[in-house]
Amino acid sequence: MTAKYLSVAEYNLLPNVKEYLSKELKNCIGGKWQSAVSGETFEKKDPATNEVVAHASKSGIADVDMAVTAARRAFDNSPWKKITGAERQDILLRFADLIDKNREELCQIECLDLGRPATDPGHCMMGINFAKYYAGLATKISGETLTPMTLLPHVDQVFSYTLRQPVGVVAAVIPWNAPMPMFVSKVAPAIATGCTMVIKPASDTPLIAGRLMELLQEAGVPDGVVNLIQGPGGVAGSRLVSDPRINKITFTGSTEVGKSIAKAAMENLTRISLELGGKSPSIIFDDADMKSAPFEASLCVFMNCGQICVAGSRLFIQKKRFDEVVSAIQHRAETMKIGPGMDPENEMGPLINASQKAKVLQYMQKGIDSGARLVTGGKGIDRPGNFVKPTIFVDVDKKAAIYREEIFGPVLIATPFNDLEDLITEANDTNYGLAANIWTKDLNNAIKTAAAVNAGMITINGATLPPDPNLPFGGFKQSGIGRENGKSAIDYHTEVKTVSIVM
Ligand code: NAP
Repeated sequence: MTAKYLSVAEYNLLPNVKEYLSKELKNCIGGKWQSAVSGETFEKKDPATNEVVAHASKSGIADVDMAVTAARRAFDNSPWKKITGAERQDILLRFADLIDKNREELCQIECLDLGRPATDPGHCMMGINFAKYYAGLATKISGETLTPMTLLPHVDQVFSYTLRQPVGVVAAVIPWNAPMPMFVSKVAPAIATGCTMVIKPASDTPLIAGRLMELLQEAGVPDGVVNLIQGPGGVAGSRLVSDPRINKITFTGSTEVGKSIAKAAMENLTRISLELGGKSPSIIFDDADMKSAPFEASLCVFMNCGQICVAGSRLFIQKKRFDEVVSAIQHRAETMKIGPGMDPENEMGPLINASQKAKVLQYMQKGIDSGARLVTGGKGIDRPGNFVKPTIFVDVDKKAAIYREEIFGPVLIATPFNDLEDLITEANDTNYGLAANIWTKDLNNAIKTAAAVNAGMITINGATLPPDPNLPFGGFKQSGIGRENGKSAIDYHTEVKTVSIVM
């Protein structure tokens, strides 16, 4: 008997979501919604069925140029420059309220974009929190007064102060793996600091970006302050980051694309921050709480179907507990409910698209071919959509692609270790350095390990925390440059000007 699978027409979609999908997802330039100059569109597919659910404007160079012109004009010659911190705060607070008010709708739209469970409000909460956090900071941006260290012989006194001024026009290019919080976390600091911006979402997730842009307008963001461009990274994205009128680039995505964007930024000496890929270690010591550690380590790599930059995809387990931990995670992998995010029963959704599924399956095959032992998974799920089985490999060669490269799927590599020294060498043997997770009851051990692992974000005795607006976010080595979130995002979106009065 063949199983019956839900089609998009059978999803229990809210009427306004259905209506939203029926219209072209256009660009928003200077406050006006418009199709690409070429009139071309691209298809947006539901990851759980691969059915086309909408069409978005396929922007080209002319569209990007118009968007940068609009952002430039709004920064250079519009009332936005005179808007106070309190007014920018109000816009962001209204935006947060609108996300909250439209939570159910936004969760459904993000589920169609990404495939994640529609009943999980986590991404909406993150969006609300980012908007509120930067609303608070909008009224607290200021310079400082300073005393020069020396005086010229004929000068009695110098009074110096700094001004913190908006950096100008920001270009934000974002990935598909957390499209709602990502959009808000890029837009909120730009608005808070009085910048203007052009934002380009990933081609796989045009839905939520369009709806959030509508809510921004409803929240009162003036025309041209935030401009949305849909379309291919290779054309629209690369034009955007190469434009000399851009003052700051904020990019989240793969290390490969990040490097090409960094080169374009260098050409114009554009300020840049990069949040890139990872191959993060999860570390379980012998003395860890075995009731929680294996489950939390499984979340670190199976959450969002493994499509998380901070995925703990290399699991190091102290030798004595190796078999016990691997079999606990195997049990979890084999009992997780996997299916469309529109079905509230499901814990894990699909991969984003058919080519990501093919890429993850290729890695699984490469793992098998390299002689690694497959504990569970290692294949796709025979049903419509981009579903794969959560997978665990052991006995993996340290040179194998599955050990070294970011897979961006639910694939865990488990390796035993003897002692701390042994562990640190292996944990740091990677080009990446985004995150790490450590489970141990020994405080000294936890502190020593956290200090020795080369990674930007470390969680002790818990699954990786979701990005928090007040916690700096970013990585060592090829995982990026700079730290986003927190107050450092305000630094990134402002220039410091030193003024000295000679008396
Ligand atoms: P990606 O392929 O690098 O794409 C990211 C964004 O860049 C998309 O909007 C893409 O547009 C655009 N783009 C592609 N080529 C471009 C070019 N030549 N010039 C300018 N823009 C270009 O990454 P992804 O596959 O969307 O996302 C997954 C990656 O993001 C993973 O490596 C993951 O680790 C990383 N990530 C990092 C963080 C972090 O904070 N460190 C967070 C989330 C994800 P198109 O979609 O149209 O190609």
